[in-house]
Amino acid sequence: MSTVSVQAPAAGRRRWLVIACGAVFFLLLAVGGGVWYLMRPGLAAIHPQLPVAVGVAGLSGLLLLPAAVLAIVAGLAGVGLPVRLRLAAWRVLLWTFPLLVGVGRLIGTGKEEIERSFIAVSNSLLRHRNGRIPGDRIMVMLPHCLQLGECPHKITQNPGNCRQCGQCDIGRLISLAETYRVNVQVVTGGTLARRLIRQLRPLLVIAVACERDLSSGIKDVFPLPALGILNIRPQGPCLNTRVDVAAVERLLEEVVDRGRE
Ligand code: SF4
Repeated sequence: MSTVSVQAPAAGRRRWLVIACGAVFFLLLAVGGGVWYLMRPGLAAIHPQLPVAVGVAGLSGLLLLPAAVLAIVAGLAGVGLPVRLRLAAWRVLLWTFPLLVGVGRLIGTGKEEIERSFIAVSNSLLRHRNGRIPGDRIMVMLPHCLQLGECPHKITQNPGNCRQCGQCDIGRLISLAETYRVNVQVVTGGTLARRLIRQLRPLLVIAVACERDLSSGIKDVFPLPALGILNIRPQGPCLNTRVDVAAVERLLEEVVDRGRE
C-alpha cells in the first residue's frame, strides 16, 4: 500500500532530502565560484569593486538554500514557522527540485521516491498557510482512475451521478464531500483540472493522484496551495486505483472551517 503523503514523511525521506539539498548547495557553490572566478577580470574592468559586490550577492543568494533546508526540517519537526518563511522555503524547494532529481539519480534514489519526498515536504509547508477554510472554497480533486472500471455511471461531468454503491472509493469520498460541504471533482487529466480551478477559484485544493501527477500539479497551481494524497495502485497505474479515505477525512477535519459552512 502506498504511503499517504499528508502524513509526516519518514525519517529516511527527511534525511535524504537534507543530504540532497546539501549536495546541491556544494554543487552550486562550486559552479558559481568557478563562473565568478572566470568573470572576475571582466567585472574588475567595469569597476574595481564589482567582483566583490557580485561575489557577496551570489553567496547571499546561495545561502538561501541551507536556510530553506533548515526551515523545512524545522517545519517537519513541528516547529511553528511564520507563513512567509514557509513559503520562501517552498519556493527554494521548487527552484532546486530539478537539481534534487539529478542528485537523487546520482545517489541511486528513484524519481518516484524524490517526488514522494517533494509532496510530503510541500504538504507540510503549505498545509498551515491559510488556516481553516469554509468547505465551499475547498476543491477535492479526484482522478478518474479511482472509479471502478466497469461502472456505467458518468461521473466526470457530474460526480453526483455516482450511486455510492461501495464498489470503489468514489462513493465514500462523495459522501465525505457532502458531510464537509466541499466541492468534489473527478478529472480525466491536468487540462480539465486547471480549467476547473480557473472557473471555481477555490482557496485550497486537496488532490488525489500518483507521484508524478501530484508533484507536477502542486507546482502548476502555485501560489494556490494544493495538498496531495497519494493514490494506491493494487492493479497497477491508472486502473481501479484506491485511496486511504480515512486520510482524506483526517485532512478535511483539519482544514475545513465547519463553523462557517
Ligand atoms: S461507488 Fe459510484 S463510481 Fe464507484 S462503482 Fe459505485 S456507482 Fe460507480
